[in-house]
Amino acid sequence: MRRNLVAGNWKMNGSLAANASLLSELKAGLESVGCDIAVCVPSPYLAQCQAELAGTVVALGGQDLSVHVSGAYTGDVAASMLVDFACKYVIVGHSERRAYHGETDQLVAQKALVALQSGLTPIVCVGETLAQREAGQTDVVVGAQLDAVLALIDLSQIKNIVIAYEPVWAIGTGKTATPQMAQDVHAALRNRVSLRDGESAAIVKILYGGSMKPDNAAELMAMPDIDGGLIGGAALKAIDFLSIIAVA
Ligand code: PEP
Repeated sequence: MRRNLVAGNWKMNGSLAANASLLSELKAGLESVGCDIAVCVPSPYLAQCQAELAGTVVALGGQDLSVHVSGAYTGDVAASMLVDFACKYVIVGHSERRAYHGETDQLVAQKALVALQSGLTPIVCVGETLAQREAGQTDVVVGAQLDAVLALIDLSQIKNIVIAYEPVWAIGTGKTATPQMAQDVHAALRNRVSLRDGESAAIVKILYGGSMKPDNAAELMAMPDIDGGLIGGAALKAIDFLSIIAVA
């Protein structure tokens, strides 16, 4: 039985004051939690969030990492830096990074590999654009995105990744994939993992992301291959994030 994971992706949002109040509301609202929880925060706030979350069940994560260990890579964040702040997770291949930073499937796969080698759990995002869905390309696109990662990492490491299916057309738009649409893609992704290793396929978590909210989380998470959510907008409101955690 896979344990659900609810991971917040704060994206480029927050301030010292806003983070403090969001996290204190979050901590106050957590009781008898039955799922894994994480927040992936902007790098400048890692120290603050590490301190705020110490001793809680909420794990910390980064939103991206460099494939390089250190050196002349202005603006980038090394895996070891995330580890320094006790991060457990790091998002790789978010569609915003693929779209605005030109990240390719190969680069994303390298990032997943570096994360694993550093003891971080990569949350590997895959997803199709609306045009790709309408052209019937969903499985081909997300399959290629996932295959690039599966081809690069060690067989024994597959169970240590988290996959997040995030249809690009559903991110921040208020449009959600129907539970069955999401389930179909999740099942296809799990099948792809099983082609590499059946045991890992049964273990690996596949999250849904894309306008997941308190009012649609239950029907999405009721699907057999949906193991939680990667939450953008709703992770910025403690009351919404807590409702999704309660569902999970
Ligand atoms: C995301 O960007 O990872 C995401 C799921 O965003 P939202 O929930 O706002 O659609």
